[in-house]
Amino acid sequence: MMNEKLISFLNIMSNALAQNLKNISAQIKKTAQQVNRAPTEVCLLVVTKTISAEQIQKILDLGITNLGENRVQEADGKFPLLRGNFTKHLIGHLQTNKAKMAAEIFDIIHSIDSIRIALALEKACAELDKILRVFIEVNLSGETTKFGVHANFKNDKNLQELISEIKKMPHLKLVGLMTVPPPVSTQEENRPFFRELKKLANKFQLSELSMGMSGDYSIAIEEGATIVRLGSAIFGERR
Ligand SMILES: *Cc1c(COP(=O)(O)O)cnc(C)c1O
Repeated sequence: MMNEKLISFLNIMSNALAQNLKNISAQIKKTAQQVNRAPTEVCLLVVTKTISAEQIQKILDLGITNLGENRVQEADGKFPLLRGNFTKHLIGHLQTNKAKMAAEIFDIIHSIDSIRIALALEKACAELDKILRVFIEVNLSGETTKFGVHANFKNDKNLQELISEIKKMPHLKLVGLMTVPPPVSTQEENRPFFRELKKLANKFQLSELSMGMSGDYSIAIEEGATIVRLGSAIFGERR
């Protein structure tokens, strides 16, 4: 049996989640309006990596409908425990040996960065008779330690090639571009990366931009983000 102290602690915890969500929604709305965008153009994707199914359920009960995980296996363990309808996003790097499982579990994949992984997903989706929405992850900074196809506005050869290959794949629907900027000390430093991604998306006529995390989502919205991916702003810092 739960004692009263524990019950009141749990209440405080879900109130904190509700309060964080409220503040974030208000901030998204305010920022969008400041740059003459409709707040409904910006989707809040709640990033649940390392978060328990119990905590995630609270977020779903508060009305959230988009969840993002960055590992296939972790998502596979947690999603079946959750009640309610939600769209499942994979935001982390995907290896070809996990493509089949990813195709089964997720609705949207943000991290396509090679023809190889796109082909593996296409094959898996053909077997499942399923259409998967995908983003191409772009590495704009040229950091070699990071995932994503290396491209920028001046040199988009790799990106162009990947886009044209994906467009030939009947079970993958390419919706947009995604990026994770390099770690910086102020969020303003990320603005050029967001702006660059937007320019690339315009050039290739892709409408969705998955960019902006807890520390910089306002800047990303100012620069055109249509999906912001937030974890720690909602759940607190991860260990
Ligand atoms: C963890 C993660 C996020 C969320 O990061 P926060 O700073 O906690 O908001 C967003 N995108 C990707 C790809 C991530 O791995």
